[in-house]
Amino acid sequence: MATIDAASMDKPLAWVDQREQLMLAPYAMRSIHSTGRVHPEAEHPYRGPFQRDRDRILHSSAYRRLSGKMQVFTGEMGDYHRTRLTHTQEVATIARTIGRALGLNEDLIEALALMHDIGHPPYGHAGEDALDECIADEGGFSHNQFGLTVVQEIEIRFHEFPGLNLTYESLMGQLCRVDKDFKGRKPLLEVQLVDAADSTTYDAHDTDDAIKLGLTSIEEMKHLSLVAESLKYVRQNYTSLNEDLLRKALVHRLIERQVTSLLSHCVEELKRYEFQSVEEALASDFVIGHPSELAEQKAELETYLYERVYRHEDLIKVREQAQLRVKQVFGAYCENPDFFPQKYRGRATNVGINRMAVEYIAGMTDNFFEETFHKMFG
Ligand code: MG
Repeated sequence: MATIDAASMDKPLAWVDQREQLMLAPYAMRSIHSTGRVHPEAEHPYRGPFQRDRDRILHSSAYRRLSGKMQVFTGEMGDYHRTRLTHTQEVATIARTIGRALGLNEDLIEALALMHDIGHPPYGHAGEDALDECIADEGGFSHNQFGLTVVQEIEIRFHEFPGLNLTYESLMGQLCRVDKDFKGRKPLLEVQLVDAADSTTYDAHDTDDAIKLGLTSIEEMKHLSLVAESLKYVRQNYTSLNEDLLRKALVHRLIERQVTSLLSHCVEELKRYEFQSVEEALASDFVIGHPSELAEQKAELETYLYERVYRHEDLIKVREQAQLRVKQVFGAYCENPDFFPQKYRGRATNVGINRMAVEYIAGMTDNFFEETFHKMFG
């Protein structure tokens, strides 16, 4: 069973399903039950549908460009702190760790995790807010919604159809990020898990980056319950740590604490519910997430990060300048559609010049945006 042979390759999905039957819990989404793709395609001889989704996302240019987008926007791309790409990889790793322990579909989890921030514009949330203002009268802009547009329309990898032609399950996963209660339907456990892994990841690494960047310090954060608890653990387990190792040990503990408590909470609940199918899990009130006490601690940390890091007073000027530039570049494209590269102009007839300008800017890396701005305005 562990390896594939020529006979299994002739029966696409049979080997994938055999493997999943052995590895996955009854409440996991199985490849064989996928609703399929908008444009029907033959199954691959040895890759399951969610594995193909994952590969398509990984090979897309929007995914690669995440390496040029800052996570915590400071105006300078340093060489220590996270980019959207490394954040995405951390989310995928943590999500897969939890998914494997719970017997969920790791291929689907990885596809969802790698896609989740693919629609992020340059300049982080500052860029997102500016683009949203630019197009407020025409439905606004959100990175989650744009992620869907990227994988459904903008990425061109095949001559038969636009977009990546992902499975219905992967698309629904991203759609749930846009509308948490889409048509009152509960997201698959794999989708819920990636959401929990996202916050687990950024709570830890934004703390790391913020301290390293000097926007805050361990001293200033030690009143936060989750930080205090983690520091206590670190100090009990390591006698002498220099400043650098203390920060790293703290971040390590922040991840470990969140993942372990999410896992123990979910394992206990899943044991109690004894779901025998995906449908049973979706019909119940079970949700993959952190236990309530930890959720409160996380909320306290997130409020702090929002107020004291993402909106740090030292960054106000940088944010404002970045947003002004985004609006200026947007205005320039709207007035001179000839500025768009030839291959994008066709899209303007479908979505309109304003939306096209927003989408084109949203696809840029921080550096490319910077260059474009200087070309336009000197
Ligand atoms: Mg994220």
